Amino acid sequence: MSLFAALIYWVIVCIWSAVLVTVAVAFARYKRTLGTGKLLLIVVTIDTARNIVENVYFGAYFGSQYGVFPIEISGILGQPFLLIVPKLLNVVAATIVLLLLVFRWLPLTQREKARAERAVRNTSEALRREVEEHRRLFETSVDLIVVTDRQRLIQRISRSCEAVLGYDPNELINRYGGEFVIADDLDLLRDEMEAAVASASNMRNFECRFRHKDGHLVPIGISGVWSEEAERFFLIGRDMTSAKATSAKLAQLAHFDPLTGLPNRISLVDDLNRHLSTDCEGSVAVIIFDLDGFKDVNDSLGHSFGDALLRQIPERLSSRAPDDARVYRLGGDEFVVVLPGRCDVLDVDLTAAKILEALQYPFEIDSERIVIGASAGMVTALRDGADADDLLASADLALYAAKSQGRGQARLYLPVMRSSAYARLEINKELRRAVTDREFVLYFQPQFRLSDGALVGLEALLRWNHPDRGILAPNVFIDALANGPYANEIGDWILDTACAAVAKWRVKSPGLRVAVNLFPCQFAGGLIAERVNAVLNRWQLPPEALELELTENVVLGSDANFAALQALRDLGVQIAFDDFGTGYASLSCIATYPITRIKIDRSFVRDIEGDSSIHDTAIASTIIVLAHNLGLSVTAEGVETRAQESFLRAKHCNEVQGFRYARPLPPNDVERLFATDLEGERHSA
Ligand code: C2E
Ligand code: CA
Ligand code: CA
Repeated sequence: MSLFAALIYWVIVCIWSAVLVTVAVAFARYKRTLGTGKLLLIVVTIDTARNIVENVYFGAYFGSQYGVFPIEISGILGQPFLLIVPKLLNVVAATIVLLLLVFRWLPLTQREKARAERAVRNTSEALRREVEEHRRLFETSVDLIVVTDRQRLIQRISRSCEAVLGYDPNELINRYGGEFVIADDLDLLRDEMEAAVASASNMRNFECRFRHKDGHLVPIGISGVWSEEAERFFLIGRDMTSAKATSAKLAQLAHFDPLTGLPNRISLVDDLNRHLSTDCEGSVAVIIFDLDGFKDVNDSLGHSFGDALLRQIPERLSSRAPDDARVYRLGGDEFVVVLPGRCDVLDVDLTAAKILEALQYPFEIDSERIVIGASAGMVTALRDGADADDLLASADLALYAAKSQGRGQARLYLPVMRSSAYARLEINKELRRAVTDREFVLYFQPQFRLSDGALVGLEALLRWNHPDRGILAPNVFIDALANGPYANEIGDWILDTACAAVAKWRVKSPGLRVAVNLFPCQFAGGLIAERVNAVLNRWQLPPEALELELTENVVLGSDANFAALQALRDLGVQIAFDDFGTGYASLSCIATYPITRIKIDRSFVRDIEGDSSIHDTAIASTIIVLAHNLGLSVTAEGVETRAQESFLRAKHCNEVQGFRYARPLPPNDVERLFATDLEGERHSA
């Protein structure tokens, strides 16, 4: 029995040791995750260690008393001061456990408690914030935010319903949203919402018209979602009124010209294509109008003046167009009148003529009166049109033909115009080669003094020595050249070559003068006087040996041109007003311009015949008298007959130039002129 009692200590030791091993293993394995459990394990471990030591002690003590271990052991362990050791250990263990509980476990649990409280606080704060955000959203959203239940009764609606629909949110709670939608759109709204429930997906965007409290319609773009969980529709509605106004405005901008308010080219093409497909078996007439000399108005009087002029054009166009005509602005100074259902060419021609007449009356702008006029190109669709672009291209060709005939003309489109347009394109290509290969040459046409028949001048006239077509006269290419990129380069070359030639000839014929025609673009940039001066210096020519021939668009051009003319005059070179009488320049205006000579155009000289009436010769004689009164010299161009010469002599015209005396001659033939008797040459011509 007493052996059993001694053994029991050792059984206890084994069990507690097993506990200790288990705890050690748990520590090793779970040391990261144990948390407060870890603390308890430490406590258990300490107490277990104490327990084991105590039981080993008493196991050994009692074992030796009962003869299991040598009896001396019980003698040693039985010392009263040793007997207290297990109890002391117990006290130490209890103290450590207590300390651990007080200093480790209590703060630990307190921290955990605080953390839990904080978590709760945070969640409610987040909830509060979320609620606040929702409230704000509902208060401040510009769009409508609507929550409805399954029956589509409004549960909540944003304050914006006041601005959008005129209702206070409270007025709308528990009302059916469809009440405010106009009847035509109700089905759409219902279908979309049912589809959202059925498919449990987002609604597509759609638009319904709502009735504002004050009665007007408000287009609202709607999107949203049905939540099965919440059994709610969440909807967003956007007032589309201003978006619609903006897109209408954009459409207006895209289709109308802001300056005149007329429909623009895009509208024109649309309308034409519509006419061509439906109206009167597709017949329609198009007239393009282009103002004559508008660029000069813009350059000389300023763009705002030009704009003011353009704004007055639509009224003139409409005033003479039939009621069903529609007027467009193509851009720049080009306007179009469309006559739907017309294919009668005479009818169209008459309309164009009436409108051209209306455009010729003076315009009053800022208390200034200005006369401008226009040219017109016409086309009718039955004969020529495939589609709108084709038709406009044809009208454009007709306009080009009209312009090249002079001002104020109207021309009907003819298929042959297309080939001449191609020819123009071709010429532009060839001109490039002509410039690089130096295919241009100068001919010279003599000018004689009528009083004594003396050769006084030579007009330099450009020729193109074309490799395939031989010598070409300027009418074939001069427009393309003047308006193309080489005008300045060739213009300079002409000036230089003519001056070089006359410098050489003046050795044999002192006092000889050369006349050079200038391209209008040579005046741009304001450097013409400097260039002319440089050329005179290069060839050691006195200024009076050079005469510059200018046409009306240069002479009457801008203020800048006037200044350049004055600078040229100051240099001492002569300035001749070429082709006088063919344009708009009034006889009186020449008094104010710094010119020295007037060249009467060929067309007025042609009118002079042996039996001419006063009527035919009036212009030529008036020009001569007026020029002389202003102290200007007069040269008559294109003199071909003895009758013309006699008339001009009788009127005291100063100089003559024409086939009667000599055609334009290549430089070598000019040199021969000096060798022969001029009188004889002239009379045998
Ligand atoms: P324009 O300045 O009026 O030149 C006079 C034109 O009349 C010349 O034609 C000349 O050959 C022609 N002509 C002269 N006498 C008679 C005549 O008795 N009867 C007829 N029927 N015609 C006569 P061209 O050389 O063909 O020049 C035509 C136009 O080309 C010129 O008219 C001028 O505007 C332009 N042009 C010619 N050469 C030049 C040039 O070097 N520079 C510039 N900028 N333009 C030029
Ligand atoms: Ca000339
Ligand atoms: Ca001329």
